[in-house]
Amino acid sequence: MKFIQYIGGIFTALRSLAGGMIVTWKELLTPKVTMEYPENRKTLVISDRWRSELIMPHDENNEHACTACGICMINCPNGTIQVTSSSIDTEDGKKKKILDKHLWDYGSCTFCNLCVITCPSDAIIFNNDFEGALFDRSKLLHRLNHEGSKLRDRKKEASTLDTSAKKENKEA
Ligand code: SF4
Ligand code: SF4
Repeated sequence: MKFIQYIGGIFTALRSLAGGMIVTWKELLTPKVTMEYPENRKTLVISDRWRSELIMPHDENNEHACTACGICMINCPNGTIQVTSSSIDTEDGKKKKILDKHLWDYGSCTFCNLCVITCPSDAIIFNNDFEGALFDRSKLLHRLNHEGSKLRDRKKEASTLDTSAKKENKEA
């Protein structure tokens, strides 16, 4: 009886070895999906939908669209955003809020995108630059508004768009 069990055990082991070898050979012949990072940096394609770093786009005049309303800060579930502002007097004697600092902490962000979708001015977006590893934690705190930047004048922008639209209409 023991001898039969012994022989049966050998066959079971051989069957399982053959099963393993079939998987191994199949994998040897299928196309490779692994990438040689970072050697492939230049050709690496990262999806546009990948949320990596929160940024505030600035135009060629160093102007952005952030009105310092603080909605992104209020909606952030993690307290990852800090918006500080100050008040200035405009030429027509009115008070106007301007952005001092828009700070975002890479270290505590969960990339939920709530700040981006609730911003009424479309002033912030996520880029897909995934290489955010650092040796110094203090560098995880990013200031999104550039030094010396200011709010884009929407009225001026609208009137420019309006003028060019009218011009295009006339030419058509
Ligand atoms: S993505 Fe989410 S967690 Fe990150 S800053 Fe925006 S709201 Fe906060
Ligand atoms: S980024 Fe948008 S939501 Fe946040 S303070 Fe600026 S305008 Fe307001």
